This record gives sequence, C-alpha cells and structure tokens, in this order.
Amino acid sequence: MKTELITSDYIQEAVELLQHGRIVAFPTETVYGLGAVANDEHAIKRVYEVKGRPSDNPLIVHVSSRDISAYVNRVPEYTPALLEKFWPGPLTIICEAKADIFAPSVTAGRKTVALRMPNHATTLDLIERVGFPLVGPSANKSGKPSPSRAAHVLDDFFGQIEGVVYGENSGIGIESTVIDLTDPSGIVILRPGAITEADLKDFPLNISQSIELSENEPPRAPGMKYKHYAPRQPIYLIDSQSPDLWNKAIRKFKQEHYKIGILADDNLVECFERDVDKTYQLGAIEDAQSAAKYLYDGLRFFDKSDVDVILAQVYEKKGIGIALMNRLEKASNHTYFNQKD
Ligand code: AMP
Ligand code: MG
Repeated sequence: MKTELITSDYIQEAVELLQHGRIVAFPTETVYGLGAVANDEHAIKRVYEVKGRPSDNPLIVHVSSRDISAYVNRVPEYTPALLEKFWPGPLTIICEAKADIFAPSVTAGRKTVALRMPNHATTLDLIERVGFPLVGPSANKSGKPSPSRAAHVLDDFFGQIEGVVYGENSGIGIESTVIDLTDPSGIVILRPGAITEADLKDFPLNISQSIELSENEPPRAPGMKYKHYAPRQPIYLIDSQSPDLWNKAIRKFKQEHYKIGILADDNLVECFERDVDKTYQLGAIEDAQSAAKYLYDGLRFFDKSDVDVILAQVYEKKGIGIALMNRLEKASNHTYFNQKD
C-alpha cells in the first residue's frame, strides 16, 4: 500500500481519502493521531487492526468546534465554561453519547464517548472539510511509545495506512488529560496530561477518584490497564538529585557488560555521558515541559539503538511533571533503581 505524505497545502487529498474510508494520520499539539471518520465502522475496525489495539479500548473522537450538542446527551452545567477555557486544547472529556451517531467500535460498546478539540489549525481544517469528527488514537503500534513527530508515524505505519498529514513536531508531546464528566460527584481525572488538577480548580473536581489506579482495581479509562509507551529495553528510574545513585547504577550495569543509555536533562547527561554508551537529552535542568516534549522521541531513539538498559531521570511530580512521570512509570513498569540494587 502507498502511504501519501500530505502537507497542509494539499489537505483536500487527505479529506478525500478519509471520506472514502481510508486511514490518514494527522498532527496535533499532543501527539499524532490515527484518523478515520468516526461514523465509518469499517474504517474504525481497521484502525484497531493496524494499531494492534485491544477492541475493548475505546477511541477519542476529534471535533472541530465547542458545540458538541449533536454528539452527547446530558452534560453538567459547567461544561460550556470548561470548553471555553480549555478547547481547543489537550483536554479530553468523557460524556454520555447520543445513540447511533458514532460507529459502534468507536466507544467499544460503552454508553459514553471521549471528545477532544485539538489545538492545531491544519487538523481542525481537516475535520471541518470532512464534515464529521475523526477518531484519533495515538498513531503508534499498541504498546510502543506515542508519536510526537511525523517520522515516528512513518516508522510504525509506512505502507500500512493511506496517508500522513505532515506537520511540525508536537508542541506538548504527551497525550491529552482525560476527564470523566459523567460522575455526579464531580470531574474525575482518568489520565494526567498537560491540563493539571490545579488548572481545573475552578470546576467541581472529585479528587478522591482522580488517582492512578492500583493494579487490581477495574480500570475506568480502559487504556490504563495496558502496558504503554515502552521501548524494547528495561528502564530504571533514578532520582535526579543523587549522583551517587547514578554512579552506582552505571557501575552495576557495566559489571554485567550491558550497553547503557541515559535519558535525562542536559546537566545530568553532561555529567555521565563519558561513562555510558548512548545518551538522549530532555532539555534544561528541571524543565519537565521540555522533557514531556522530547520523551517519546527519546524512548524511540533507544528502542532503535543497541543499548541493553535505559537509565531515566525522575522528575518532580508537579505540573506537567505528573503526566511525564505517569508515562515514565508505565514505560518502566514502576521500576526504580535504589540503594539496595
Ligand atoms: P489514546 O487514543 O491512545 O490517546 O487513548 C485514549 C484513552 O482514552 C484511553 O486510555 C481510553 O481508554 C480512554 N477512553 C476513550 N474513550 C473512553 C470512554 N468512553 N470511557 C473511558 N475512557 C475512554
Ligand atoms: Mg495511545
């Protein structure tokens, strides 16, 4: 199959492919999405298939305006204010879906639907021209790091989808914040992202529910039960404040004749680059926003490299650092290197 590379000047080509039931990836400010028209069951089924996505993990529907009345039933009264503040942007809302609007596979049999209006002019134009919302799960093979660059999409899907709308690298770099609006006790955060709990403080939040789910609890964002974002190699998380711990980890893996990769801020990389095989710099010291932006490119860099183990820096869990550490903890299976190792 031929995969067309489509620039924004030729967007009508992407429109026609989508309208004919084809799959076209598109850029957004979070990560690239794997696009198909959200009422085309056949195309949606192919999205699951090419991604290797479990069929019980529903897709986010991407809309081009804040008027969602055609798609959802009752919504809380604060919804217009919420959308006014955060859309277009990296916030996905889960609402009760109107019946028979979307293809059944979009919601994986649920009565709710996840909606987002991406902050990306070309992609908003694309949705407008298609005339119906597009699904846009992250355009990576299931389990692999998400794509923050068009090249990542091509690495995973070249020859398997009909098109990629070529855009710049994603500005945010990690997936949207997912919130559930269907709980009468308040907004429940199901997946952390660039919009944080603090950003949502003017709205009724149900904090007690908004926690990372423990291993045995039934997941409410079905995607949370799957391993995510991981390169081939094991990742060990290391506290950035402790050079001793970094030295210890490097010594240990050297003794085992492992090739070592370091994923960390510029400062830490400079300290240790002479002692290891490969490094990837995430940006200035303590800059979690930059680290989020470069995280998936870094994980993909190591995935393609010959290193046997990745040592990754722990960032403080505040602001976007919460979402960053959520992804890093999943990628590493919550493996922290500690003094006893
Ligand atoms: P991705 O498309 O890879 O960014 O993942 C979308 C996330 O939204 C996954 O974690 C899904 O499980 C979650 N999601 C999508 N639709 C729903 C829904 N109706 N209810 C709960 N979670 C959802
Ligand atoms: Mg994903």
